[in-house]
Amino acid sequence: MKVGLMGGTFDPIHIGHLIAAQCALEAAGLDEVWFMPTNVPPHKKQLPGATPEQRWEMVNAAVEGHPAFRAIDVELRKGGVSYSVDTVKLLMQLYPGHRFHYIVGADMVQYLPKWYKIEELANLVVFIGLSRPGYGTEEEALPEPIRDSVRMARMPLIEISSTEIRKRLAEGRPVRYLVPDRVNQYIEVNRLYES
Ligand code: ATP
Ligand code: MG
Repeated sequence: MKVGLMGGTFDPIHIGHLIAAQCALEAAGLDEVWFMPTNVPPHKKQLPGATPEQRWEMVNAAVEGHPAFRAIDVELRKGGVSYSVDTVKLLMQLYPGHRFHYIVGADMVQYLPKWYKIEELANLVVFIGLSRPGYGTEEEALPEPIRDSVRMARMPLIEISSTEIRKRLAEGRPVRYLVPDRVNQYIEVNRLYES
């Protein structure tokens, strides 16, 4: 079983995440993509705007109905700062028959050299990088230790970020079509990200 891990803050999850996962699924011939909300992301200065429970519920709402997409709560249950290398090692113990890939947008590909214990992680997984507006996609431009572990895949450029969605909501503007319908409803009912 070939699994793509899609880590993220998902604050909130949006269609850019889902399209990236779908493109990675096809490009790398994955059997499943596991969406894995981070508890505390190591690289972000600001804490998430929604609670871990709310981010978890939105991720579940977003993947519902896709037979190959699953939400997993390993990092939320572990608590503390979520380091991908620890998560992958734990998942490899729990699922010895699985092969794990790690899905990242092009902004994260650029940032990979700064990840905690990146060389160890790069020995455990193949990274699938997806294009994102404003970020390069050349594998050759990546630093030596991780270059061989990254495969870039193409996706239609989607200029949507959770940051922009939170900003729109704080300004009272709609986010319909930027997030799945069920997520949009969840945000409305729970009045998330209002200022
Ligand atoms: P924020 O603005 O809060 O950082 P985000 O939209 O970047 O949110 P994250 O939860 O930080 O979403 O990202 C999770 C993963 O999804 C990262 O690997 C990121 O690169 C990727 N990703 C997010 N949005 C896109 C997009 N529009 N196109 C391609 N990849 C994306
Ligand atoms: Mg981000």
